[in-house]
Amino acid sequence: MGNTEQTAVCHDNPKHNTEPCKELSGQVVDIGKWMVSSPPRKRCGMSIHLRNRADKRNNLLMRVLCGRWACEICGPYLKTKWQGHLSIVLGKQETIFIHQITPTQWEKIKTRIRRAKGEYAHIKLNSGVWAVFTNVPVGGSPLSQSATQSILDASMNSVSYDRKPIATSRGWSLSLNSKPTKSEWERVGTLTADIEEIEKVVVELVGDQVRSFYHANAIGFYVLLPQSWDDAHIAEFDRRLLAVGKVEL
Ligand SMILES: [Zn+2]
Repeated sequence: MGNTEQTAVCHDNPKHNTEPCKELSGQVVDIGKWMVSSPPRKRCGMSIHLRNRADKRNNLLMRVLCGRWACEICGPYLKTKWQGHLSIVLGKQETIFIHQITPTQWEKIKTRIRRAKGEYAHIKLNSGVWAVFTNVPVGGSPLSQSATQSILDASMNSVSYDRKPIATSRGWSLSLNSKPTKSEWERVGTLTADIEEIEKVVVELVGDQVRSFYHANAIGFYVLLPQSWDDAHIAEFDRRLLAVGKVEL
């Protein structure tokens, strides 16, 4: 027995607050067995500079992402987005029930959740087990808010990065910023530096006029150039960004 072992407890029965709830479900969630995953190694993405056609002071610097969980950049990014999203969604529910299942058990549980008009999120762990969270009592262990949060965190730290490890019902899905359209934005240039490096230079040039941007296939920031800048000043800004990360000869 390791001291990392944690179990689901019942929030509505004080007797069960400190011990595993066996009688309700016959299933105790043992997150001590969930291996922490190592992030993927494959990278993607180039950084691009876009300018708003209607207002040239409005610029968008973003890294185009492949959006694959198996990517070193996108996997951890998606993991963070989903973890934050599910933490809010699950935190709003009166009660959460968790099931630890094998993939073959999923269809049966999904049907029961649908019949009970419930919502769900399931997370595929690197051990092959699925952690299923739902807000309807179709078996599974009922969890307290704090247990829900710690089991969600443990699940997210054990996700399988092979391919998308999370699926939800419509009500619990994650939506991101919409994609910049070609009619609204023109491309100024493709940048060689990482988006983090570019952001540092932009903050040096214009101050803290940046606002984060998230999309399923891109991550970056908007920047609003000062009203006082003329075309020559803007052109100089563009040149400075193109030069970021390039070795000066
Ligand atoms: Zn990627």
